[in-house]
Amino acid sequence: PAAPAAPAAPAPALSARQVECGGLRDPRCAIQLFGGETAALARLRLYLWDEDRLREYKQTRNGMAGQGFSSKLSPWLAVGALSPRQVAAEVARYERERVANESTYWLLFELLWRDYFRFACIGWGSDVFRLAGPKRALDPGRGWSRDPAVWGPWTRAQTGYPLVDACMRELTQSGFMSNRGRQNVASFLARDLEADWRVGAEWFESLLADHDPCSNYGNWTYVAGVGADPREDRYFSIPKQARNYDGHGTFMRLWLPEVAGFSPEQLARPQSMDPGARAARRYPAPCCVLLMDRTGRKRGGGRAPAAGGARAGRRAGRGRTFRGGSETTQAAPAPAGPAAAAA
Ligand SMILES: Cc1cc2nc3c(=O)[nH]c(=O)nc-3n(C[C@H](O)[C@H](O)[C@H](O)COP(=O)(O)OP(=O)(O)OC[C@H]3O[C@@H](n4cnc5c(N)ncnc54)[C@H](O)[C@@H]3O)c2cc1C
Repeated sequence: PAAPAAPAAPAPALSARQVECGGLRDPRCAIQLFGGETAALARLRLYLWDEDRLREYKQTRNGMAGQGFSSKLSPWLAVGALSPRQVAAEVARYERERVANESTYWLLFELLWRDYFRFACIGWGSDVFRLAGPKRALDPGRGWSRDPAVWGPWTRAQTGYPLVDACMRELTQSGFMSNRGRQNVASFLARDLEADWRVGAEWFESLLADHDPCSNYGNWTYVAGVGADPREDRYFSIPKQARNYDGHGTFMRLWLPEVAGFSPEQLARPQSMDPGARAARRYPAPCCVLLMDRTGRKRGGGRAPAAGGARAGRRAGRGRTFRGGSETTQAAPAPAGPAAAAA
């Protein structure tokens, strides 16, 4: 009889340098990265004009698989190959020539989070690198472990929670992870594993192609509950996030082919997988009991900065006047390059 197909081996770790150089050019990557301003402007043009995706950014931005769900401009913004003013000028032109709606506003709104963390970090100084963060207060009930036995499965994409492992494997393979993914894995490390959040921030720092100290450490303090978040006790329930944002399991199966045979609900709630079937695929059992299962908490759809935040979202809705009280839509003109945008 034919030998059974070998289960997929765990992804090899890439050095940050390999990622910088283009890594494996894995076709599953959300974006193939090339350095420099020319590549940055090409991406801006593709996203806004050629594929006309900006008009639906607000609806798609929480996606996890594929290049088109968000701008993917962060790597070039992080190294200065593209300036936020260039993006803002191009969005303004898009609003004049194509459509001005909540989505066009929302991209600018996300850039404001980038600015916010830069200015906030000036005020916070080195506090943003300390365990207690800018908040300067620690929840004594949490572990804050630096033990590799606690956080090791997270870095190796071996937690036994497919949503977390798929995101972590994507990061290792591609140097990118969606904002939704970053929020989930950060919450998992800080809240479910009760590890020192800085282990995660350092891991991100070593692998993210768009690493930016203010955005990275600022967002980590926010998700870990030691930042400037007005909402206490932010928590992302992994099963709920998997159901809401990867309901068909497309993203999880993309990065974890070894679990492709499980149903979306089994992927969201891996405790429901048959242990024998899981072992046959060499996929690990869950490495921890989730906080929500330890405490019986029901909530878990936490919204972190790029989600706008409940308050920020309300502000955004009020603060923006759309021309004519609703969307202004114009026929899409021929694609135009971003080179004409004011720098
Ligand atoms: C734990 C954690 C760590 C992060 N680390 C980084 C990092 O090192 N570098 C980085 O650029 N972003 C970081 N972010 C923010 C965000 O995840 C990325 O900016 C975004 O996923 C990049 O994809 P995009 O360009 O398609 O974003 P889009 O959704 O298209 O947003 C457009 C731009 O807005 C800015 N932006 C969006 N969300 C945020 C945010 N929450 N905070 C700050 N700026 C934002 C980015 O410059 C981004 O390119 C982090 C978020 C979390 C939760």
